[in-house]
Amino acid sequence: MQRSRSKLEEVKNVGRGKSRIREKSDAIKVLNLIRRSISETTALGNISADQDSTPFKVLISTILSARTRDLVTEEAASRLFSQFPDSKSLTKANGKTVAKLIKPVSFYHVKAKRVIQVAKLIEQRYQGSVPNSLDELLDLPGVGRKTANCVLVYAFRTPAIPVDVHVHRISNRIGLVDTKTLEQTEEALAKIYDRKYWLEVNELFVRFGQMICKPLVPRCSMCNVRPLCNYYQTMVKTEKRS
Ligand code: SF4
Repeated sequence: MQRSRSKLEEVKNVGRGKSRIREKSDAIKVLNLIRRSISETTALGNISADQDSTPFKVLISTILSARTRDLVTEEAASRLFSQFPDSKSLTKANGKTVAKLIKPVSFYHVKAKRVIQVAKLIEQRYQGSVPNSLDELLDLPGVGRKTANCVLVYAFRTPAIPVDVHVHRISNRIGLVDTKTLEQTEEALAKIYDRKYWLEVNELFVRFGQMICKPLVPRCSMCNVRPLCNYYQTMVKTEKRS
């Protein structure tokens, strides 16, 4: 309950400017400007780029990452995989041991049970191989649309647009979309961006949200998306004039 309430608050806090749906060409310019303004990669970007990365590690890391800072996710995942690197080994793990390894990720007790449960199902249903279809991923416990899409993108390099609160907030602030839910944002972004851009939307927007277009106070003064951003043009500029 606590999780869904705070998630709802973040979803509401998109800071919309006057709504304006941009053209595809503007949307591509936005992506290029964001690409140029960020550095480093997200936790999932790092985990998936590791030479020992597997779809299983990406799936479990994505579950750990919910409501958890990137550095904490990466360190917890590293401790967990040093002892339980695959689904087979994790099925034999004890919940308390896993909880100790992944602490302090948020809800670590719940997530410890969840990742063991997921490992067991991966073994039983898929003989240890994480499925690469959205429907099969969504059928795993605790795997919602964002997590499933993250696995498609970061583990299988299959075009998809994982939408979390960062992607939702930034897309609405800029005016790429005018939506109320994460699902609507995913659908709207999939229309405005051709499939060839889908693999990078989550990575770029999430990192941009961590560095510049922050949830409560966006760092507009240092943002090079300003000329194309509805929020800046309609809210920040207006405040400055008055
Ligand atoms: S100008 Fe401000 S609100 Fe717009 S994208 Fe940049 S940081 Fe976010």
